[in-house]
Amino acid sequence: MQFQNTIDFARHLDQQDSLAPFRNEFYFPRNQNDETQIYFCGNSLGLQPKSAAAALNVELEDWSAWGVEGHFHGRKPWFHYHKFLTEQAAKIVGAKPIEVVVMNQLTVNLHFLMASFYKPNGNRYKIIMEAGAFPSDMYAVESQVTFHGYKYEDAVIEVSPKPGQHILQTQDILDTIEAHKDEIALVFFSGVQYYTGQYFDIQSITKKAHEIGAIAGFDLAHAAGNINVKLHDWDVDFAAWCSYKYLNSGPGNVSGIYIHEKHATNPNQHRLAGWWGYREDKRFLMQKGYAPEPGAAGWQMSNAPVFGMAVHSASLEIFDRAGIDNLRAKSIALTGYLEFILNEVQKSNPQIKFQIITPQDEQQRGAQLSLLVEQNGKKIFDFLTNNNVIADWREPNVIRIAPAPLYNSFEDVYQLGKILSEFSI
Ligand SMILES: *Cc1c(COP(=O)(O)O)cnc(C)c1O
Repeated sequence: MQFQNTIDFARHLDQQDSLAPFRNEFYFPRNQNDETQIYFCGNSLGLQPKSAAAALNVELEDWSAWGVEGHFHGRKPWFHYHKFLTEQAAKIVGAKPIEVVVMNQLTVNLHFLMASFYKPNGNRYKIIMEAGAFPSDMYAVESQVTFHGYKYEDAVIEVSPKPGQHILQTQDILDTIEAHKDEIALVFFSGVQYYTGQYFDIQSITKKAHEIGAIAGFDLAHAAGNINVKLHDWDVDFAAWCSYKYLNSGPGNVSGIYIHEKHATNPNQHRLAGWWGYREDKRFLMQKGYAPEPGAAGWQMSNAPVFGMAVHSASLEIFDRAGIDNLRAKSIALTGYLEFILNEVQKSNPQIKFQIITPQDEQQRGAQLSLLVEQNGKKIFDFLTNNNVIADWREPNVIRIAPAPLYNSFEDVYQLGKILSEFSI
């Protein structure tokens, strides 16, 4: 598409956008003068769906009306509350419902999944991951290998970009896996890298992991609700994601997990167990001896945090109506427009110099561009903040801008460019 840096062109794209009405289903933050802010931070904390409060209120009302009986008599009985979310959550990550459950929080789930799928054995005890992974993932992996008695420096192989580059080449990832083919127990990558916005080739990485006899797991924190991944078809072993970034379900809210059905339906697949993953028909018999629910539901631990899940459910309902494939198509156009506008700014304003470190290839990125700013990065970021734009600053000099296709418009992107073109020191 031939983009133009004009408000008429941006509005024209918005008029043609069948997803544009979804914008009205979200609350936008407002500044001190009560003006709506331009929000580009959906990769960090998505906006609140207007339907969230009503969904939460159903559970508050049922609690007040039923007390403990709400477990069975509420409008959505809490006894199997996760089931109200499973199907829609599965669609978001391209999985079968039997492979998905919503439970706990993200890092917690990474540990539980590694308890099941990081099984060091003899020479095969290493974990391979991207260098500079999200800190929580680094700490989780570090504590997993030390828990098993290994040293981080020895047991964790980090893949770094080539010198002078910011993103990984898929071939380098595959070659590193091959180079350690007898030592790797687990290949663990993010789906979309939080810092660079690079979307990794999940399918090729998984294929290679299996070729050398390793397990492939992914942290989809920045991919879920952003990219139309196909976890089942790509034969991914396990994955987890949070619900509060692109999935708009509120700060710290619940996580989703995926376990391929070949593992999820295997009752002998080891897991750390709790009563909520116990066979539902016998859960309240309170018997000795663990017998899991079939599927990912058999990894549940504690009874469902219903208030958070109610909000998540409201958000999943919106994704279901919008369709993840439609969102991805809009996202490619919207991020492409953002790239175009930013390059226009750079041409017209000599005080702004940056490099976009997110891949140029639309198939290797989602709804985020990361700008490595050459000078005055923090000043530019503060200028945006003072001009009503919410973006994201990462030390030492990166501005992340995430146009979320559910609620951002092409006009938002145009306005961002207009504001940036007025920056001067
Ligand atoms: C956001 C994010 C987290 C956050 O983990 P919580 O347990 O939800 O606090 C972890 N890992 C990655 C890759 C993330 O992007």
